[in-house]
Amino acid sequence: MRIHDVSVSICATTPIFPGDPKIQFEQWAALDKGDPANVTMLHFGAHTGTHVDAPAHFIEGGSDVHAMQLESLVGPARVILIADDVPAITSDHIDASSLDGVTRVLFKTRNSQFWKNSEKGFRNDFTYLDPTAAAKLVELGVRLVGIDYLSVEKFGSTSFPTHTILLERGIVILEGLDLCDVNPGDYELICLPLKLAGGSGDGAPVRAILRSLE
Ligand SMILES: [Zn+2]
Repeated sequence: MRIHDVSVSICATTPIFPGDPKIQFEQWAALDKGDPANVTMLHFGAHTGTHVDAPAHFIEGGSDVHAMQLESLVGPARVILIADDVPAITSDHIDASSLDGVTRVLFKTRNSQFWKNSEKGFRNDFTYLDPTAAAKLVELGVRLVGIDYLSVEKFGSTSFPTHTILLERGIVILEGLDLCDVNPGDYELICLPLKLAGGSGDGAPVRAILRSLE
């Protein structure tokens, strides 16, 4: 059984969504400075790298990442290939994908290639999920929706319809996947967020893997 790591590395040069906190690692204690151990202090936002969004991200009083059901985060998932010339995934793409019975959907788009040149910084021309696609996924009863860049939303949106449609129904949004090395098809997804209980619980980084079913 093959395990595919579909998470991005978190380091100082990992692209972050504009306006989010910078990623910083501080050597809090260091053996070479005479401290008894190496201890790193982490400084970054809850939506850094590969991460989940909880309802509390956009909905006042929405449930937090701590309350996220583990059953949504582990289980069968389908990777859908979206052609490179598609800037927005719409309900037509969902209709064409025959997703009956699929509970977790991960969209592999041209965005995955962006991670290869990530030192060049954030790209705002990423392929996103149109609200018509989000509504269709709700209709289908999907529990988790993943995409291979830092947001499911069209860049520059001020009303965030795609997030709202999904989060209002408690659907987990998984963002920042790197699906470069994964073929379209069916897998088992395991993506477990840090068990953060502080803050507003809006999201948390995850280590996401796909296991081949063969
Ligand atoms: Zn998001």
